[in-house]
Amino acid sequence: MTEEKSRLVIKSGRVFDSINGKLLENTTVVSVGNKIVWLGDDSSFEKEENDHIIDASGKVVLPGMIEAHVHLIGTGNPQAEREYLRTKRDMYHFFALNHAQKHLASGFTCVRDCGAYKGVTSSLRRILDNLTFAGPRLVISETSLGQWGNQESIGPQPLLDAARKESVVTAGVDNVVYAVRDLKRLGADFVKTLTTGGVLHGMESKVEFSLWTEDELKAMVTEAHRLGLHLASHAHGTAGIIAAVEAGIDTIEHASYMTEEVADLMVKNGTYIVPTQTAAMSLVSPELLKLMPPEIQKKTIEVDKIMKESHRLAFKKGVKIVIGTDAGTPGNYHGNTANEVRLMVEDVGMTTVQALQAATIEGAKAIWLEDKIGTIEKGKLADMVICEKNPLEDIKVLSNVTSLSHVIKDGIVMAEQGRITYFSPLQKLAK
Ligand SMILES: [Zn+2]
Repeated sequence: MTEEKSRLVIKSGRVFDSINGKLLENTTVVSVGNKIVWLGDDSSFEKEENDHIIDASGKVVLPGMIEAHVHLIGTGNPQAEREYLRTKRDMYHFFALNHAQKHLASGFTCVRDCGAYKGVTSSLRRILDNLTFAGPRLVISETSLGQWGNQESIGPQPLLDAARKESVVTAGVDNVVYAVRDLKRLGADFVKTLTTGGVLHGMESKVEFSLWTEDELKAMVTEAHRLGLHLASHAHGTAGIIAAVEAGIDTIEHASYMTEEVADLMVKNGTYIVPTQTAAMSLVSPELLKLMPPEIQKKTIEVDKIMKESHRLAFKKGVKIVIGTDAGTPGNYHGNTANEVRLMVEDVGMTTVQALQAATIEGAKAIWLEDKIGTIEKGKLADMVICEKNPLEDIKVLSNVTSLSHVIKDGIVMAEQGRITYFSPLQKLAK
């Protein structure tokens, strides 16, 4: 189609150079198809006949932002058990599409999903890649790779049965290797595991305990890396964080209990933290706390408090931190990732530039996509966000989606002022 090949020109903007952390004034960016083909000073831009031109003068152009931890099937409903018992499994496919679009419309053009029902996110990724619907670039784990032990499961039986069926649970080196290969076969882009218990996973789910044996973890990392998959591990307690970092896991999710020694180890190994402070913040709201049994209330409040100190410590020590909310968990709704970017400034101590780098180039490196996204450069994919206000001056402006005039993915304008405006040509023909 000729329409697809016409050039998209973002003219005379202030382009955020995410590598050097500064704005390039009066810069024009040209893309053809899904790639950036030219960028330079507006004075040297040469217009061509069928150019589609967006005037970005006075506006800030960011690389499309990266959200590194969500659960697209999670609705954020505080009463997950009740929701589950009233929802057909296949409805989650549609929820996931809706949630993915919320991320896109809020400026996050790449989203890493850290665990869903098997088949949902790999199907959605294909639907979005072939442009049937507007949506972000998806990087998916399909489901999580867990282990037996650690906790007794408590809850409605259908929910427990489903959880067992929908995630991969295994033990022993050979089984772990098999599970990694099987996840790859299902379509996983990376492996999501857990090296400690969780906050909400039940009273007996201990966060201070490391779950896998060293051999199992090493086998998982070796096999995943061999197949070109990076790995993320959910880890709250120190022992589980150390086990994951030493085994070579690439990103640590939550990282609630940090020490100076653990931070040093992460710096040495180049391990990233995905803080997910939004998840903890959502849980400590009074409405959510009152829905929890007293022991879990206690654990939640404790983890939330220590988490902020831990992330501040890690950042001060030089640990690399990227953006992820854990959206989909109770009270933690999709499309609010800009708040996590703000928390990196307010709670962790980043400058606005560092927070924007965490949301762009650092996020891309953490998920092994820095050759494709995270910067606005010739040859990269044309994922960009045009902001009417300057987030380098005030990071909060990102939370106002109506001030994001254009969200562009793969060289296509997909959302304007917080609303999806791309619909597939097939749908247009059907009208
Ligand atoms: Zn998660």
